[in-house]
Amino acid sequence: MVKMQISDLSVNYETSSGDVHALENVEFQLEDNESIGIAGESGCGKSTLGLSIIKMIQGGKIIAGEITLDEKSISNMSESEFDDTIRWKVFTIEQQFDQILKQHDFTGDFQKTMHNSLDTVNLSHSILKKYPHELSGGMKQRIVLAMALLLEPKFVIADEPTTALDVLIQAQIINLLKSLKKNGVSIMLITHDLAILSEIVEKIGIMYGGKMVEFGSSTEVYRKPKHPYTKGLLDSIPTLRGEKKLKFIPGNPPNLLSPEPGCRFFDRCPEAMDKCKKNPPKIKTDSGYVLCWLYE
Ligand code: SF4
Repeated sequence: MVKMQISDLSVNYETSSGDVHALENVEFQLEDNESIGIAGESGCGKSTLGLSIIKMIQGGKIIAGEITLDEKSISNMSESEFDDTIRWKVFTIEQQFDQILKQHDFTGDFQKTMHNSLDTVNLSHSILKKYPHELSGGMKQRIVLAMALLLEPKFVIADEPTTALDVLIQAQIINLLKSLKKNGVSIMLITHDLAILSEIVEKIGIMYGGKMVEFGSSTEVYRKPKHPYTKGLLDSIPTLRGEKKLKFIPGNPPNLLSPEPGCRFFDRCPEAMDKCKKNPPKIKTDSGYVLCWLYE
């Protein structure tokens, strides 16, 4: 497990129409026994955050901020030092199966090392002889996890590992992540589904429009959410019992090409006020912070 601090991290993507401000002043801290869940809608910056940590953002650039690992800054490390000491060894990223397949070839030494990782995720070695279309969604996700675990990393960034899987397979993947944690691996679980985080992580960061609008312990974020967007996400989760009426958040996420000044949730917020047209302050909460004028 590792202690991690992200301070004021900002990332832009250059496009022919201008810079897309994918991440702006993101910050949080994890102790060495903590895992984090990152939740929010598509395009809010969740995946960019994971890719920035492992320095794999294609077409994007970290324009400000610092990433510290066990109190040592890794932001300015050369590519070769990062490769030798951090990437895949400390941090690893688990992405969607089809993306990974394009980058690796399942032959030779790679295949030998892969066998150990397949044991970790309870998969038969014979699956390495199958074609991708012969594999179920659950098998594909477990292969991807096995690949992420090849070098026994201390920190796994899992980007949407349960997307498009049925609930039984989702449960298998969640159990797998839990067992990794028991074996001392920290996890960053990136998802648009806030409901799956509570069982796995100690901390939650809610992303909206490239900003982390709320960060805190999972207990506080679930039981006493502060940001109107977090409340909206929680209100949209179905429950098995009770008469809870599901709500949704009307409107669309902001355009990050030229974001308006002020709170990025302004157009969709049921509690928006005039002063929300200015950038919201960062207010301390019991276990983290919230970016919102309501708590000033
Ligand atoms: Fe809503 Fe204002 Fe808070 Fe933004 S700052 S979430 S607009 S109340």
